[in-house]
Amino acid sequence: MTQTKKIALITGGSRGLGKNMALSIAKKGFDVILTYNSQKDEALAVVAQIEQLGQKAVALQLNTGDVKSFDAFFGQLTTTLKDTFNTDHFDFLVNNAGIGLHSSFAETSEEDFDLVFNIHFKGVYFLTQKALALINDGGRIINISSGLARFSIPGSSAYGAMKSAVETLTRYQAKELGSRRITANVVAPGAIETDFSGGMVRDNEQINKQIASLTALGRVGLPDDIGGVVAFLCTEEARWVNAQRIEVSGGMNL
Ligand code: NDP
Repeated sequence: MTQTKKIALITGGSRGLGKNMALSIAKKGFDVILTYNSQKDEALAVVAQIEQLGQKAVALQLNTGDVKSFDAFFGQLTTTLKDTFNTDHFDFLVNNAGIGLHSSFAETSEEDFDLVFNIHFKGVYFLTQKALALINDGGRIINISSGLARFSIPGSSAYGAMKSAVETLTRYQAKELGSRRITANVVAPGAIETDFSGGMVRDNEQINKQIASLTALGRVGLPDDIGGVVAFLCTEEARWVNAQRIEVSGGMNL
């Protein structure tokens, strides 16, 4: 089949950072498949914005915490690739979807731990494993971590640990997939103004100011600070960047 443009698959592309990544990647001239969990209308609005930029886009439903649903998802993805993009492969996988969990180490329940584990680590692991057959040789894997894998803020032990696991996984992916010229890198945002964790960084003035004071560049991050870095990793210029953790935090907690 003839594929004209490279295609990115971005999980959690309906809002926040994933939305910004989807738009930034489209601005580089790539087509986009984005997933949403529950916010279909928001996802379709992103699709419309990408189409206005002149690229093709499709939104698919996916719960990245439910590994058992992945085979059905890949069935849908394969049909979408064929029907909309006239291909059976894609090029860039961005593992972005996620939720926040704020709970002290002493109080984190097994249920909360499992939720964060399923979405932030197990889901990323097996979604990527199952995607390997569909990713073109020379493709890119970009895993979204967090500053919280490097520095510790009380209340993020489970979340931060899962992001650390993803960072280790990324190095193994780079090592094992290099023979297919597939690179794997981590983008680790600092605190960014999105809906994440109930919009805490954006809406809680005290937290916003506190994070700004811990950041060398003197403010919290915005979605627009992140998407372009992920889009860059999809470009030809970034082909030699491999197994790296790129923190995009304005210099937080240095
Ligand atoms: P938002 O809450 O703004 O958006 C979350 C996105 O993930 C939405 O698209 C949502 O889909 C999707 N999502 C949530 N749960 C699931 C699930 N179970 N299955 C599939 N998709 C799901 O968060 P951000 O954009 O801020 O966060 C994106 C990533 O960035 C996450 O991995 C997060 O850990 C990381 N990050 C965020 C930081 C921040 O300060 N904002 C800092 C560092 C890292 P839907 O719209 O359908 O609900």
